[in-house]
Amino acid sequence: MSDTVTDPVAGSSIDSVEVSAFTVPTDAPEADGTISWDSTTMVLVRARSGDVEGIGWTYGPTACATVVRAELADLVVGRNAMDVAGSFQAMVRSVRNAGRGGIAGYAISAVDVALWDLKARLLGLPLHHLLGAVSATVPVYGSGGFTTYDEQQLRHQLGDWVLEQRIPRVKIKIGESWGTTPERDLARMRQARDVIGESTELFVDANGGYTRKEAIRVMSAATDLDVHWFEEPVSSDDLAGLHEVRDNVAADVAAGEYGDDLHYFRRMCAAGAVDCLQADASRCGGITEFVRVAAVAASFGLEVSGHCAPHLHAHVAAATPNLRHLEWFHDHVRVESLFFDGTLDPTGGTITPDPETPGHGLTLRVADAERYRVA
Ligand SMILES: [Mg+2]
Repeated sequence: MSDTVTDPVAGSSIDSVEVSAFTVPTDAPEADGTISWDSTTMVLVRARSGDVEGIGWTYGPTACATVVRAELADLVVGRNAMDVAGSFQAMVRSVRNAGRGGIAGYAISAVDVALWDLKARLLGLPLHHLLGAVSATVPVYGSGGFTTYDEQQLRHQLGDWVLEQRIPRVKIKIGESWGTTPERDLARMRQARDVIGESTELFVDANGGYTRKEAIRVMSAATDLDVHWFEEPVSSDDLAGLHEVRDNVAADVAAGEYGDDLHYFRRMCAAGAVDCLQADASRCGGITEFVRVAAVAASFGLEVSGHCAPHLHAHVAAATPNLRHLEWFHDHVRVESLFFDGTLDPTGGTITPDPETPGHGLTLRVADAERYRVA
């Protein structure tokens, strides 16, 4: 008789990786400073081990689903479900010639999140406990305020967040039409301040729409509005420009949402380009890479803010010591609420990852999602 105890969980292998894509029309026409859209596509990965399933996703083109199906699934199937880092490394190495960023990086992110969820469910642990939580709650800010909104739409959305849900920070889009209508930007910032009152933090995001001097001029004309956060005032590729704006405005300058590997984030931090580093786990390489991005930021004395996909970030955010907040983004909150049971409540300005339910605590409502399936 052997003394060895075989742990069935530790030996679990990944049996299948399946992917689908869903396109959900927006509830109104939407635009920011530099792009417009009328729908949101979620590419959703389901990874199975026995009868346990982990779910991950990204927001990107349906081509992400093709990458998962054609390039990544076979690499991951058969691996040990406990060794997410090994699957991540295999995926990253395999896309060398296809390119690590963009569509391939989004696809890797969705698989990585599904594998973390799967591992946590196999172990019967909430994901934030598996990762090692530092906080039970995670601050969020309301995010929307699209340039296509009229005054009534803007008032309605900001009022919901601030007056109904008591979220103490909100963000609107500015830099409309590549920064060519600064007077309207300023008027909308005034409307926003008027709705949210003095005690709510006002954030703005130009999505790279301004030139350096325009960005500084707009913020100087808005001094009385006490803007707290100025996201992508200029292109996030213009690190010297971000640094110049940062030196000339009172608001914190933030960028990083397009970052796709550690080198990108390290360059941004080293250039002194941001007061707070943004990162998106659904783009940069999932939870595996988000944790490392946060460590890069910490080494420069910076906090991180999670970009979009709030339910995908909730657990890793709770396990990030230098987290500032997550983006409670209108479109993604809508899609995640439409598709998942177990979504979180931002009332009071924080979300609380479920401390009892294994994994990220979300369950796909298959019939509700199927209505929007495109791939
Ligand atoms: Mg942004």
